Amino acid sequence: MSAPAAGHRPGATPEEVWAARSPGWPAWVPDPAWRRVVVCAAHPDDEVLGVGGAMALLAAAGVELVHVAVTDGEASHPGNPVLAPAQLAAAREAESGAALAALGVSPVDAVRLRLPDSGVAAHEDRLVEELVPRVLGADLVLATWTGDGHPDHEAVGRAALVAAARAGVPVAQYPVWAWHWSHPGDPRLPWDRARAVALPPGVQAAKRAALDCFTTQVRPLGPDPAVLPPEVLAHAHRDHEVLW
Ligand SMILES: [Zn+2]
Repeated sequence: MSAPAAGHRPGATPEEVWAARSPGWPAWVPDPAWRRVVVCAAHPDDEVLGVGGAMALLAAAGVELVHVAVTDGEASHPGNPVLAPAQLAAAREAESGAALAALGVSPVDAVRLRLPDSGVAAHEDRLVEELVPRVLGADLVLATWTGDGHPDHEAVGRAALVAAARAGVPVAQYPVWAWHWSHPGDPRLPWDRARAVALPPGVQAAKRAALDCFTTQVRPLGPDPAVLPPEVLAHAHRDHEVLW
């Protein structure tokens, strides 16, 4: 996720509030004819937080997955004395690989574009050019949401929409950060387009194991508190994921 400085805002919506809402969104059902799906993540961990369960279900159904990591997430701990940015980037790349393995996902292609963490918007045109050939011929693109409240997530969402439109491929976007700053019924979110990906218990367990692979994010690192503390991770421990 690479939380911006506003990270753990007081007043963030606890998962219990979301759980009590029981919205009953229509089910998202993968098309059995799908052969290849491209998953775009702004930072290593977005893909698991947002659609780790969906990726596991698609992989189990024999769908080829392409994982595009737009940044290496090197800006999650500025000034940290334990890991410098380059070391953090390497650690997060390894964490993402371990997490996908925990989900039973072996991407046919794992693409690292190495755009600057927290600076994707300045490279959006280049990102579109990088994405177009990779989404050509795919059945679906999954990407972070254009309204997610993190500039990198939003830039990746916008670029994915443009690239997929050029390639004639549909897009489903996944919120990550929005679960933290929004609230049930929040009119800023496109609830009318929401679809729920139901996660069986085995997939939920695999997703928990996958999230635990992101050591630099889910645990304190030197003097820095966890970027993904339990109250934020709780949103990713649900029995469903949401796409729109
Ligand atoms: Zn992120």
